[in-house]
Amino acid sequence: MTQIQPQRPASQAEPSSQRNGASAKRTDVLVIGAGVCGIYTLYRLRKEGFTTTVLEAGDAPGGTWYWNRYPGCRFDSESYTYGFSFSRELLQEWDWKEHFAPQPETLSYLNYVVEKFDLRRDMVFGCRVTDAIYDEGENEWVVHTDDGQVYHSTYLMTAVGMLSAPTLPLIEGRESFEGEAFHTYDWPKEKKDFTGERVGVIGSGATGVQITPMVAKQAKELYVFQRRPNWCAPLHNSPISPEEMAEIKTRYDEIFAKCSKTPGGFLHGPDRRKFNEVSKEERLAFWEELYASPGFGVWIGNFAETLTDPEVNAEYTAFIADKIRQRVHDPEVAEKLIPKDHGFGTRRVPLETGYYEAYNRPNVHLVDVTESPIEQITPKGVRTTSQEYELDSLIYATGFDAITGSFDRINIVGRDGVRLREQWQDGPLTYLGVQSHGFPNFFTLAGPQGGSVSTNFPRGIEDIVDWVSGFLVTLRDKGIKRVEPREDAVDAWQKEVRDLYQMTLFHTTQSWFTGYNSNLKGRDGIRYLIYNGGSPRYRRRLEGVANDGYVGFDLH
Ligand code: NAP
Repeated sequence: MTQIQPQRPASQAEPSSQRNGASAKRTDVLVIGAGVCGIYTLYRLRKEGFTTTVLEAGDAPGGTWYWNRYPGCRFDSESYTYGFSFSRELLQEWDWKEHFAPQPETLSYLNYVVEKFDLRRDMVFGCRVTDAIYDEGENEWVVHTDDGQVYHSTYLMTAVGMLSAPTLPLIEGRESFEGEAFHTYDWPKEKKDFTGERVGVIGSGATGVQITPMVAKQAKELYVFQRRPNWCAPLHNSPISPEEMAEIKTRYDEIFAKCSKTPGGFLHGPDRRKFNEVSKEERLAFWEELYASPGFGVWIGNFAETLTDPEVNAEYTAFIADKIRQRVHDPEVAEKLIPKDHGFGTRRVPLETGYYEAYNRPNVHLVDVTESPIEQITPKGVRTTSQEYELDSLIYATGFDAITGSFDRINIVGRDGVRLREQWQDGPLTYLGVQSHGFPNFFTLAGPQGGSVSTNFPRGIEDIVDWVSGFLVTLRDKGIKRVEPREDAVDAWQKEVRDLYQMTLFHTTQSWFTGYNSNLKGRDGIRYLIYNGGSPRYRRRLEGVANDGYVGFDLH
């Protein structure tokens, strides 16, 4: 099996200092990760006068957009809401080409930002952080990378991404497959052409839903091995003309103001009307409109009750099920594509382009692995309980050890030898999603239980990075050397996070939102990973804590 392995073994690596030229070994702040979050953190901290180095496993900046190069990869935030808002000049310079930019365009954008603000000189590439140990005597973090380098800093910040620890399926025989196999996250840089091939895709989350119609156009035969289907809805992507882009540029203040008021940081916010105040005819007309509109309106631009009230949810779910029946020609296939175990929107809704129509092609075959489970991956392909499917390539769109996985892969040791992965064994324990008890001067940006995880990511990132930067400035001004949350503050935050889970239907279904991953042991119960209160409420909480003298933190 050819498995893409981007991580170079430490023994073969050149020292990062030789590859990068930069890399002060002793800085005020070390940031792990050069994706959207790491890029903005470096910009912001440098502006505040903190010496900062970013350590990145990839050979270039981009994070998610550096690794996920599979065909069809794109975001489903409107492009002009996804870019950074901090620089008017940048906003006026960058022309988005599509309403929902594909991965290469977003990666180019992030590289452009890095070059424009001269950020590369403080970034070290091709080095994976293996250990981060707090030295109490020196009050500093000592960070080791897989190429044998050691860095020291007062503050350590993670910008490691929430979906950056891919997981492969626990299926016997994986290593025996003689064709090419890929996890969508570890996609090769070279374009992969599936023309004339027999291809298998395992997984039907947002990733599987994006890649399936793309591969369908090339492959001779495509087999989609589906376990639990997801509720998907059309993205309705389209190009942005130069005239439209010029018009968008005049509206950036308005666009970002709107995003700052919606729970998800998108242009789409819940409809203000009460479900029961609207007649059935009006509701149906509204839902038709949502289904025909671009982006996430179909999920989060609806009556709020669709995500909180099981009866309302059931009515909307039936509406979406009919849409699937209309789009898929074979009624048996359509029924298999309709989820029966959860209501619409209670898992993250994949937005698709021609996903359902792909199943109308004669070369695309839906294999329902709940009916005939996969028994084994064989040298020739995939064997289910009913037959063996011979394949040239096998694509694992099988998801991630979400949110905490990238933390667990680093040996992070705080005060008194406490290991983060042990403290978080039964689920993350944070205060505000930014710090954990026992880990002084360690900030988990875009980490578990924070506001950015469930939002239009850059919007959430700008909020949290601005807040943490302000915190660091205050600490510097007041001569405070060490900051760590109190245990009672962590406990109170756990209650707040858990209570918010109960307010929506998200907790009723197994997905990465609730910490479920069938390929990891002990991940079938609920884990409280996400702050479900929405951006405006999260921002108010952060502001309140700052205004109260950073209540909940021990400051020394
Ligand atoms: P995912 O939502 O966790 O989906 C993983 C899929 O793999 C599920 O269908 C799962 O089935 C299946 N699977 C896993 N192990 C399996 C096994 N052993 N046998 C059969 N099926 C197996 O992961 P994802 O699709 O990569 O998406 C993760 C998140 O990334 C998304 O929710 C989204 O937030 C983000 N994403 C965003 C975009 C975008 O912006 N447009 C695109 C892609 C991804 P079960 O459900 O039955 O476990």
